[in-house]
Amino acid sequence: MSRLPGRLVLLGHPVSHSLSPRFQNAALRAADIPLVYEALDVAPEALPATLAELGRQNASGNVTIPHKEAVAARCARRSALADRCGAVNTFWHESGVLVGDNTDVGGVDAIAHALLGDARRSARVALLGAGGSAAAVLAAVERWGSARVRLYNRNMERARALASRFDASVDVVASVDAALDAATLVVNATPIGLRDDAFPVEVERLPSGAAVFDLVYRTGETAWVRAARDAGHRSADGEGMLVEQGALSFERWFGIEPDRNAMWSALHN
Ligand code: NAP
Repeated sequence: MSRLPGRLVLLGHPVSHSLSPRFQNAALRAADIPLVYEALDVAPEALPATLAELGRQNASGNVTIPHKEAVAARCARRSALADRCGAVNTFWHESGVLVGDNTDVGGVDAIAHALLGDARRSARVALLGAGGSAAAVLAAVERWGSARVRLYNRNMERARALASRFDASVDVVASVDAALDAATLVVNATPIGLRDDAFPVEVERLPSGAAVFDLVYRTGETAWVRAARDAGHRSADGEGMLVEQGALSFERWFGIEPDRNAMWSALHN
């Protein structure tokens, strides 16, 4: 294992409900790594000073809303995926400089693989939302080969701006129904269903046989995922993506695979 970071942190605002410390600390214990993963609540105006201090401490960590783009802008080096997304969710220091990566993309890919296997490579994706997590979905899909995306967002300008950063496999459409047309994978990248049981799309409108991937996660799954599964759709909420992006971050920091079973147990026991 390479030299341990001086500190391991999650940067967010607010971070009070984050699940990451639970499963990251379980992974650290399982690997006998003498560090504690701390969630730091950092207001946007405090980010530059916090990053300077974390640099002095040779810290590594994760980044969540609303800091992913700001940290990307401050990295001396970024991975190709972080560049593609314009966002960093994983950082560390090398020779004193801040390095950023994006493991949300790998998290999306892992869940799509679990839902569709190799068929994801030719998936017809209905993507709802055009924010940071939608960018991670597009960065994953463009690596799948012949997959195509129909992107719907209530703010079409934002959808067009996002699509313009990706290749010709993304079509911006003007309605949810247009996005759903012939879709084999329906992805919710909006916060709909985060705080209540609202559905981004009524289950009856989902194309027959389409898989459902809700990036939102809640205790006991989101109501949409439960309803879609009851209607016969292969379905996953965002918890698997959350754990997988965290597992991939762990690999970046320590060069070893974490114990994913320990991470899952920490969430469910
Ligand atoms: P974001 O950058 O703020 O983007 C949110 C998107 O959702 C925007 O396109 C926005 O549309 C749309 N939206 C917001 N409220 C809406 C509503 N009531 N009806 C329709 N569209 C709405 O957020 P993000 O970072 O992409 O995250 C989106 C969600 O994904 C989060 O709430 C989180 O639960 C989930 N997430 C999960 C993971 C994971 O690991 N599982 C990782 C990241 C995010 P406008 O452009 O029109 O405002």
